[in-house]
Amino acid sequence: MTYKAFLIKYAEIAIKGKNRYLFEDALVSQMNHALKKVDGTFHIRKEQGRIYVEMEGEYDYDGAVEALQHVFGIVGICPVVLLEDEGFDALAGEVIRYIDEVYPDKHFTFKVNARRARKNYPLESMEINAQMGERILEAFPETSVDVHKPQVMFNIEIRNQINVYSTVIPGPGGMPVGTNGKAMLLLSGGIDSPVAGYMIAKRGVTIDATYFHAPPYTSERAKQKVVDLAKIISKYTGPINLHVVNFTDIQLYIYEQCPHEELTIIMRRYMMKLAEHFAKENKCLGLITGESIGQVASQTMQSLAATNEVCTMPVYRPLIGFDKQEIVEISEKIDAYETSILPYEDCCTIFVAKHPVTKPSLNVIHNDERKLSEKIDALMQEAIDTVEVIHIEA
Ligand code: ATP
Ligand code: MG
Repeated sequence: MTYKAFLIKYAEIAIKGKNRYLFEDALVSQMNHALKKVDGTFHIRKEQGRIYVEMEGEYDYDGAVEALQHVFGIVGICPVVLLEDEGFDALAGEVIRYIDEVYPDKHFTFKVNARRARKNYPLESMEINAQMGERILEAFPETSVDVHKPQVMFNIEIRNQINVYSTVIPGPGGMPVGTNGKAMLLLSGGIDSPVAGYMIAKRGVTIDATYFHAPPYTSERAKQKVVDLAKIISKYTGPINLHVVNFTDIQLYIYEQCPHEELTIIMRRYMMKLAEHFAKENKCLGLITGESIGQVASQTMQSLAATNEVCTMPVYRPLIGFDKQEIVEISEKIDAYETSILPYEDCCTIFVAKHPVTKPSLNVIHNDERKLSEKIDALMQEAIDTVEVIHIEA
């Protein structure tokens, strides 16, 4: 069957009261963006709390569904047949034709689920259910009705046009990107941070990213891996401005001046400071990291407190209570995992001490950071001045 339209289901945004139009507009805009790269001509139409995608002529069905499955805010994508109201007999005829085409094997149980949104339709919902059910049973005696657990649900919604659909392809849920401000993701080449970015974007937040690069300790391939990961998540988040910060001199300076067991913590504090600088410059309202309590020495409660201390902005850590396996599952779902596990060094592993502190004391850290006072401001400024911004779009 060549469908000419999709009915788009969205949940959360429907309950947002006055903001509803804002949310719907953001959703439509994200859908337009996602469909731009798909073969075909797509028109998106809002009507009475519903969003339709209508297709003109030939189009790439799988490509369109895949694109829409990356748009946050969409709960379901329903290939739908839209019919003019030409009386119940005509409708029944169309439904029978639809079933015949979409379900070559008629051995299934079904239920008719009618909804009369237009109250001047002569039959009530229950009457439509009963009469349509009978017509289907007459036409296809192999089928049977099961009102509790039907294998197929025939939805018939009487609106301006009559909507007939029985397939609901799951969308990603969440809220449309662009409805909840912007945040700066600290994006490494690991498994966690791309997932963290995905999760915050899912709540409607636009994402920018910062990556700390330490050439020659980290290779061009390591940087390319981060670019690739940003590209993968940008399928969901929309375009990302990736800030690539040259972190080598800062790292070396810390390495020279500070006790090695504190390296990671001090380094992470400077990462947060720099990320916050770019966040403010780009009107972000928060930072995002892929940290999870206890995962490594730098993510104990004490270490997180030490890292957090330098930030004035909220730091969002959506993975904070997740086990690695749970993170891996999301990473696989969003197709980032295979890229994340490529074995290129990241800048933290080069300078990792054998026995990093797991319970850093803020006093000790503050004291040791004084040893950086001579050059650190200039090095920070240098890192800011030499940032490379890469615009990433899926
Ligand atoms: P990930 O899998 O995201 O790399 P991780 O388990 O390796 O995380 P850490 O190396 O302690 O953990 O990093 C914690 C968080 O700090 C990361 O999730 C990321 O948000 C940020 N981060 C770490 N290294 C970098 C980097 N080189 N550039 C940007 N952000 C980084
Ligand atoms: Mg890492």
